[in-house]
Amino acid sequence: MTGLVYKSTGSWYTVKTQLGDTYECRIKGKFRIKGIKSTNPISVGDVVDFELEKDNDKESGVIFHIHDRKNYIVRKSVNLSKQTHIISANIDQVFLMITINNPPTLTSFIDRFLVTAEAYSIKTILIFNKIDTYNEETLNEVKYLAHVYRKIGYECIGVSAITGKNIDQVKSLMRGKVSMFSGHSGVGKSTLVNAIEPELNLKTKEISQLHMQGQHTTTFAEMFDLSFGAKIIDTPGIKGFGVVDMDKEEIGDYFPEFFALKQDCKFNNCLHLQEPKCAIKKALDDNEIAFSRYRSYLQIIEGEDEHYRTDNWDE
Ligand code: GDP
Ligand code: ZN
Repeated sequence: MTGLVYKSTGSWYTVKTQLGDTYECRIKGKFRIKGIKSTNPISVGDVVDFELEKDNDKESGVIFHIHDRKNYIVRKSVNLSKQTHIISANIDQVFLMITINNPPTLTSFIDRFLVTAEAYSIKTILIFNKIDTYNEETLNEVKYLAHVYRKIGYECIGVSAITGKNIDQVKSLMRGKVSMFSGHSGVGKSTLVNAIEPELNLKTKEISQLHMQGQHTTTFAEMFDLSFGAKIIDTPGIKGFGVVDMDKEEIGDYFPEFFALKQDCKFNNCLHLQEPKCAIKKALDDNEIAFSRYRSYLQIIEGEDEHYRTDNWDE
């Protein structure tokens, strides 16, 4: 049988088949995935093959195969150096929630997030929340940012989780897909998810309360089916993505507008810094590339490891 992993507690996995039947499954023996050194071989979002076994009258499953992942996100384990924890696999899209103020979301944060998502091959949609609270000035800022990010291929939606504005648009993007919601604390993630699916409220709350009481040292992601044919991955305590190791030459490739132009740079290993005849610098001078994007690029390329860290921005 084949199913999707909805929940994992370390040794047991909750697997749901396409028919909607749920089985508690475990892994027998050694189960290592090539190329990944992680504390958990299987994560939420994995597609697995399993067979049933009778275990004290209770029917449970044994996973014997994991399907190739299209992507996965990790978090570096704090205690075990070099070990990573796979938070979730096979994510179709992440909604990055942004507010202009209360709390402020800086473009440097947005760009670092997008670079990481690109590196993970995860599609990002930008949600500007709390538009019911904005005055002319902040609304203009939203319009400007939406213009900058639409131009380079990111979908942008202005919503209000409180008034419900444009929430249908978010729902229709979610239909048939596996989504995650990210963004700073206080941008309105829980409020939006509640507006989208009030039924889910309880579960999300329970999990985060458990987390706050410190009963969980490791946070476990969980997948939920929503009533309108969408799936959501709840990642309690995880506000962004983990660490991605990138070479300097690679970083520009995760800025789509840089990537599109880089073959026009004189040097094919151009870092778009001081090199002569750089197509990116020229596009910047011509206002084709937003200055804030280039500034974020410099911050990332000049920075140390912590610039790639996106999982501790709230701390
Ligand atoms: P989270 O930390 O991202 O989950 O943020 P919450 O959902 O807890 O929201 C933080 C605060 O912002 C709460 O007081 C919400 O009521 C408020 N909030 C969330 N979305 C909106 C919105 O669209 N408009 C307004 N005015 N307030 C909002
Ligand atoms: Zn260049």
